[in-house]
Amino acid sequence: MQIENQPVKLPILKEKQVSLYIKREDLIHPLISGNKYRKLKYNLVEAKKQGFTTLLTFGGAFSNHIAATAYAGKIKGFQTIGVIRGEEIGRKWNENPTLKLAHEHGMRFKFIPREEYRTKKSHSLLVGLVKEFGAFYLLPEGGTNLLAVKGCEEILAVDDSRFDVICAPVGTGGTLAGIINASHPKQRILGFPSLKGDFLKEDIRKFARNSNWELQTDYHFGGYAKVSEELVLFLNDFKRETQIQLDPIYTGKMVFGIVDLIKRDYFKPNTDILAIHTGGVQGIAGMNTVLKRKNRSLIDI
Ligand SMILES: *Cc1c(COP(=O)(O)O)cnc(C)c1O
Repeated sequence: MQIENQPVKLPILKEKQVSLYIKREDLIHPLISGNKYRKLKYNLVEAKKQGFTTLLTFGGAFSNHIAATAYAGKIKGFQTIGVIRGEEIGRKWNENPTLKLAHEHGMRFKFIPREEYRTKKSHSLLVGLVKEFGAFYLLPEGGTNLLAVKGCEEILAVDDSRFDVICAPVGTGGTLAGIINASHPKQRILGFPSLKGDFLKEDIRKFARNSNWELQTDYHFGGYAKVSEELVLFLNDFKRETQIQLDPIYTGKMVFGIVDLIKRDYFKPNTDILAIHTGGVQGIAGMNTVLKRKNRSLIDI
């Protein structure tokens, strides 16, 4: 599946003589983040091949990966189990738009305390889950593994080799690794992490076959799922000017970063930039419930 690139028109682009296109992977599906669809694709083929009927995975309460797994499981005929971070979420999960929708798509939940969640890769936790739910195909938190990276290698089209710079948001780095592997060595790949931490580089190196990439680490806005007033206003301005809806956790931070780098003359004149809109729009409703509770500005939908 090949997704079109949409040109963005903003005064700052004209002033600095750079071009920006956005690959609208968000349009793949209204509920599944584009990159989560890519990451699940070959994993579901493999799960079927190995004879599994159940998928189990891990995630936070607003996780795009949880939403995508529930939906893809329903479409492809798998039972799905979501192990969710935070025991307390279990008492009011039906107030959470992401989990409510996942439930409507047939996902069963197991809510576990945050300390236990941190041991999600431990043998004993997994053995307990098999005892409770029977055999399952395990998808890691965030969905990143070798087959997920393979799926993300299909994001770029042949014609995208004309771009000088390709930008993508980074959670676990699986999506970026796929883009790196599919890129031309002369292209520069920039990843924008939405969380703090140095571990990401190592994780990406595990899957990336080229070295033409770097991380822009100044645009996490305090960490994963943290948003500032400035970011919310940026999202709303950007939507008004371009009609493109960005999400606050990933794509909004990336585009904020790209525009900031453009303002700082980071890119030479005549640079052609492609940014990947990975989706994530389903998470806005949940983020808005949090912002509303704190009496902060809401994200326009
Ligand atoms: C999960 C997600 C990402 C991050 O993808 P990784 O492969 O984990 O780096 C980026 N954008 C959106 C919208 C996502 O849902």
